[in-house]
Amino acid sequence: MMQQFTDVDLSAWTTLGVPARAQEVLVLEDDADLACWLERRQAAPLPELVLGGGSNVVFLEEFAGRVVRLATRGRELLGEEDGARLVRAAAGEPWDGFVRWCLAHGWGGLENLAAIPGCVGAVPVQNVGAYGLEVGERIAWVEGVDRDTGQAWKLSAAECGFGYRTSRFKAPESASLVITAVTFRLPRQASLRLDYPDLQRRFAGLGEDVSPAEVYAAVAEIRARKLPDPRVQGNVGSFFKNPLVSPEVAERLAALHPDLPRHPQPDGRVKLAAGWMIERCGLKGAREGGARVHERQALVLCNAGGARGADFLALARRVRETVAERFGLWLEVEPVLVGREGVVLQL
Ligand SMILES: Cc1cc2nc3c(=O)[nH]c(=O)nc-3n(C[C@H](O)[C@H](O)[C@H](O)COP(=O)(O)OP(=O)(O)OC[C@H]3O[C@@H](n4cnc5c(N)ncnc54)[C@H](O)[C@@H]3O)c2cc1C
Repeated sequence: MMQQFTDVDLSAWTTLGVPARAQEVLVLEDDADLACWLERRQAAPLPELVLGGGSNVVFLEEFAGRVVRLATRGRELLGEEDGARLVRAAAGEPWDGFVRWCLAHGWGGLENLAAIPGCVGAVPVQNVGAYGLEVGERIAWVEGVDRDTGQAWKLSAAECGFGYRTSRFKAPESASLVITAVTFRLPRQASLRLDYPDLQRRFAGLGEDVSPAEVYAAVAEIRARKLPDPRVQGNVGSFFKNPLVSPEVAERLAALHPDLPRHPQPDGRVKLAAGWMIERCGLKGAREGGARVHERQALVLCNAGGARGADFLALARRVRETVAERFGLWLEVEPVLVGREGVVLQL
């Protein structure tokens, strides 16, 4: 039966751990709960936010609405197609558990995305990426329901509009699309992605002798070393996206800052390292209230204790303004910002 809570403190529902109250929280565990929610939202309309693990959401203030937590479970091998396995998982499956489950069955393909918090249903939203792989490259299709019309939908990867930390699910016109399951296409032949510098170094000279499980273990170990554990220090991973600029802009900046890391992309643009820029601005350790730029990973903003959404807003604005003054670029925020009435598109 659908679980329903009223006047809920959301600090334990997100990895950032900032306090914010929601009028109502619903936890959906199966299709019957989903149907129950769709009826309830007709009867009692409120601003709504669909939530998975809450690892990419920043509540800036109280939320005058309903949080709908998708906790549906289930994972299965659907079959094989063109030398690949099709594996389907429900939206509420914990992402990292799903990746490990695949590996335990000998199904590689997702190992570069090891140890990322959150649920399966959220990975298409910002096209989760890490260590040289974006999840969109392994998605066959995404299924869901339109919460406004109650219609089921199914979109192929090509229709999902995947890009760097983005997809059609981030667009305001897709706000009614709720993801209920994701089907992954996992290559049968191990096709390891080891071109990311940390992985190249780790596996140099081993050639064909590396297994997907070893890549998973390496990524998990490197991440644990580099990133703050949200259970110890609240955070949402990277707070800013790496800017994608034209080659001309990259050249102009490189003339002024010769050691600026630049990564040419297949589409001709150049990816710049936002963390490097923040560090160069002397912002490591900078604080606004309880929010702090992490001392080692400048791209991560942490809850140093007692932080509120407003502290993160103030700190993120300060970082953006300082970087814009020094480098002439406005960094884009990566996590989803939520205000009183729902998702906020601008800082
Ligand atoms: C320590 C740490 C490390 C991280 N590392 C990475 C990384 O390497 N790469 C990376 O890309 N991200 C990373 N993240 C960010 C985050 O973990 C991912 O974006 C993750 O996929 C979010 O999942 P979630 O279930 O917590 O989503 P939530 O935070 O609950 O939701 C995120 C967004 O997705 C929407 N959403 C969630 N579920 C659904 C659904 N079923 N249907 C429709 N919309 C939905 C929400 O409304 C919200 O807009 C990291 C975060 C942390 C804390």
